[in-house]
Amino acid sequence: MSAIIRIEHLTRIFDVSKPWLNRLIERAPRALLTAVSDVSFEIEENSVYALVGESGSGKSTIGKIIVGLVPPSQGSVLIEGVDLATESDAAKIDAVRADIQMIFQDPYASLNPRWRVRDIIAEPVAARGGATTGLAEKLLEQVGLSAADAGKYPHEFSGGQRQRICIARALASGPKIIVCDEPTSALDVSVQSQVLNLMSDLREELGLTYLFISHDLTVVHHMADRIGVLYLGRLVEEAPRDTLFADPKHPYTQMLFDAAPRMDAFGREVDPPKGEIPDAINPPSGCAFHPRCPLAIDRCSRERPEMRRLGDTRVACHLAE
Ligand code: SF4
Ligand code: MG
Repeated sequence: MSAIIRIEHLTRIFDVSKPWLNRLIERAPRALLTAVSDVSFEIEENSVYALVGESGSGKSTIGKIIVGLVPPSQGSVLIEGVDLATESDAAKIDAVRADIQMIFQDPYASLNPRWRVRDIIAEPVAARGGATTGLAEKLLEQVGLSAADAGKYPHEFSGGQRQRICIARALASGPKIIVCDEPTSALDVSVQSQVLNLMSDLREELGLTYLFISHDLTVVHHMADRIGVLYLGRLVEEAPRDTLFADPKHPYTQMLFDAAPRMDAFGREVDPPKGEIPDAINPPSGCAFHPRCPLAIDRCSRERPEMRRLGDTRVACHLAE
């Protein structure tokens, strides 16, 4: 197997200075938020790579950079060997763009309510001047809906059905890679597993590669071959799924696992990870996790741990042995 996506030293900084402040104060401080910081990993062809972490950990930003919605500040993303940020050959850029699609969290917001499902699904192909006759009907059947649904509007479908329509649209251009950003977290639990099973089946049938973004470890366990754990924009641990679940090495990963299964009768989290997520504009020095880490030593606030390899795992912690 070879890497279909190779991410090297990826960093994304957002300027979050407030424009109204700039008008009031002559030299207002520039506020820079480092959403993604020096992240490197590879995704093997025909595998599922999951990125997990709390909100604000940079998972969605990485997804958007990979599909080309957000440019990187530093570092590179190679998709099938092509770097969209620097490639000048338009034909190569086009080919990669057709090969990579994204599915978003909210199937309500991502479908144009005024368009018929047929046109929504065929749009990515129509926009490239491709043939669309019968395409939507075929894809609807592939995602477990019926060809007759092509003439309907999004409001005529349930949440789970709408996400199936989003998946059909993502498949229209015949992609190799789909970035799935929390694809089932807006759905009822009973519907979630149906959509996840559909996604697994499609991956096998079509030989797809998924980057699967989620905060839900149950979902990640169900889907992923390999998992990367993000904390404040940094990759802190990465391992094959079974290794990570059996032997999480980073204290933050351990904290996520400790918090995960404790749900009350209503499915609410009883004991979420302890401590506040620090401010990403002024992240803590050294290991950014040190203010919350139960194992932190002096060195942790001074020195940022490098990513090291321990067996199948890569981990960034001074005490990971
Ligand atoms: Fe905790 Fe230190 Fe390891 Fe960071 S480097 S996770 S603070 S022990
Ligand atoms: Mg997100």
